[in-house]
Amino acid sequence: MRYLSTRSRSQPIGFAQCVAQGLAPDGGLYLPESIPDFSQKLEKWETLSYPELCHEFLLPFVGEDYSFEQLDAMVKRAYTRFNAPEIAPLKDLGQGVKVLELFHGPTLAFKDFALQLLGELYEAQITRTKTPINVLGATSGDTGSAAIHGLLGKPGTAIFILYPDGRISPLQERQMTCTDAANVFPIAIDGSFDDAQDIVKTLFNDAAFKSSARLSAVNSINISRILAQCVYYFWAYLRLNKEERANVHFVVPTGNFGNILAGWMARKMGLPIKTLRVATNQNDILYRLFTTGVYEVGKVQPSLAPSMDIQVASNFERFLYFALDCDPARVREVMDTFKRTGKFVFENLKSDGFTASRMDDAQIPQAIKTVHEKYGYVVDPHTACAFAEPFEQGTTIVLATASPAKFPETIEAAIGVHPADPSLDALKTKQIQRARLPATSQAVADYIARHKV
Ligand SMILES: *Cc1c(COP(=O)(O)O)cnc(C)c1O
Repeated sequence: MRYLSTRSRSQPIGFAQCVAQGLAPDGGLYLPESIPDFSQKLEKWETLSYPELCHEFLLPFVGEDYSFEQLDAMVKRAYTRFNAPEIAPLKDLGQGVKVLELFHGPTLAFKDFALQLLGELYEAQITRTKTPINVLGATSGDTGSAAIHGLLGKPGTAIFILYPDGRISPLQERQMTCTDAANVFPIAIDGSFDDAQDIVKTLFNDAAFKSSARLSAVNSINISRILAQCVYYFWAYLRLNKEERANVHFVVPTGNFGNILAGWMARKMGLPIKTLRVATNQNDILYRLFTTGVYEVGKVQPSLAPSMDIQVASNFERFLYFALDCDPARVREVMDTFKRTGKFVFENLKSDGFTASRMDDAQIPQAIKTVHEKYGYVVDPHTACAFAEPFEQGTTIVLATASPAKFPETIEAAIGVHPADPSLDALKTKQIQRARLPATSQAVADYIARHKV
């Protein structure tokens, strides 16, 4: 399989290169050249374990870059550190509602599904090229810790994650800083998340430094992340009975549009999904897009569901490519206009299975309470956003993107219950290991130069 840029001004490349590169040189995002049709395989896939399903699914996408056995080994290792035997348990809440729990990985949020696999892919890359890599990123929460846990202790890698000192949750900070791993370098920056991100951008734009430090990015637009996330849509569907399968809807707490895009791609690959609901918090650019056709950047309003606090949805361009009939010239035009003016108005955007809802901060604790009363189930503040509006007729699968135990204050305030998780409790007695640096790219560059592999 080859991968094409949504803006088609870069050469098509293979899977391994696409994983290594992340963003295409022309600024576009990579997509597989053709979309396989798995509809005839579904029956055969019913009895597979999660890693087996993942392997079957990924085979056509990796092409010649990995052998059958290599892929098998990577996938098996990637899903060994999940604390539920099913990896992604599907819980029946009754009344046609099911919850797909995607929070049983090492950092208790769905990003582990992609980043545990990406860690394996990086490792394979290092073995193949015999060149170590230093991963650099900035985080306001979940992505940083999931990336750290994907690369934890991997030979030939060091990972540097910048975060704003005192502005991420104490539990998130502990997940990054209490790993005891010699290749992990969390850096608390004396500044905001934007400062941290600016420093990362500056260092990546410094070609000499980038190459001498062999820097690689942890970015949210890597195609391997989307593909890894497609798998659990198939997995969830295959857990349903015949009757339920006739009318399936997914509801997905959404920020950067990566998770739900994976579901939409799964639908393109023959998974019979009726609708996919984009469930946003008060940062609702995608809700506004799908309800009015206007894609317009707003100001980020920090919320109780912080991992969905985004300005622009970085994966949106992949949907756009298909919505504009795979015409890269039109994609470039829309993205250019959007970049210049912060806005694009679509005349008649095909929703193609998407619906949308939004939930502001005042509603989130109320939703946690309602779900608890109605179904006897505790949702985290991100998952709570899925319950903004009544569900469609049929079977609804809500993607639970994080464990409630990561947000004890919000849960306790909403329902008076303290959600606990043994892995988080264990963190509380561990030593915090981190650097504290001023918010300058020079300070960070010097630090990386001293600690890189
Ligand atoms: C990242 C994240 C989201 C948003 O997912 P996207 O792929 O960016 O849409 C939702 N919930 C949690 C807990 C997350 O960590």
